[in-house]
Amino acid sequence: MIFIIPFIFGAIGLAVGAVGGAFAAHASSEEDRQKASHHRKVANELNDKYSDLQKRYYELGDQSKSRINDFKRKLAISEVEKDVLHLVVELQQGLIALMFEIENNPTPQALSEFEKAVLVTNTFLFELKKEFIQVPNEYFPCNLKLANEKVPDNRKISLTGNVYPTIQCKKCGQKNRITPHSLRFNFNPACGKCQTSLVANGDPEENLKKMSRRRLKKEGSPKRVRIE
Ligand SMILES: [Zn+2]
Repeated sequence: MIFIIPFIFGAIGLAVGAVGGAFAAHASSEEDRQKASHHRKVANELNDKYSDLQKRYYELGDQSKSRINDFKRKLAISEVEKDVLHLVVELQQGLIALMFEIENNPTPQALSEFEKAVLVTNTFLFELKKEFIQVPNEYFPCNLKLANEKVPDNRKISLTGNVYPTIQCKKCGQKNRITPHSLRFNFNPACGKCQTSLVANGDPEENLKKMSRRRLKKEGSPKRVRIE
């Protein structure tokens, strides 16, 4: 499966940025120094892997202008693809590990960044037709309560608890919230109002293109910053 296109790097970059942000937010409240430095390391490693993939991909693009051996090029592309999929798995595993870590020492900031990171990652996973990262319903309210009891937070961070993407129907405009339940039997959910497929043309490449264009326009390119 060749799904690598420049736009995918925008979408996965947003996910890497958000996951890194969540790790950094949790690390800043972590009392255990060793653990905190481990969290920063995870965030930086994700960032480095992403930058490396991006670099390799663009180099491939440049090489294609000169006359590179077609066989070698295909091989290199499939290597980049494999590494993209590895990075996706690392994002999933990182978020699940972070979910349990935050439970040990919840703070409103870490919960808020974690919530954002899961939503961005799940939106990306939906476009890739991969299973969502699931967070139990009671996770956010319970941990926010614990966090506020420990240190009453003046900034009053509120959480939506929404970690699954909302996809607007192209035909009737209805906004459909996609839940793990709606993907239970297939990865092609339909609009609740008019039954039109919510996966545009069923083509993940097209969706990624649109998604990353829209998001990058709105939010600007994700910044690659090292977390110290
Ligand atoms: Zn509809």
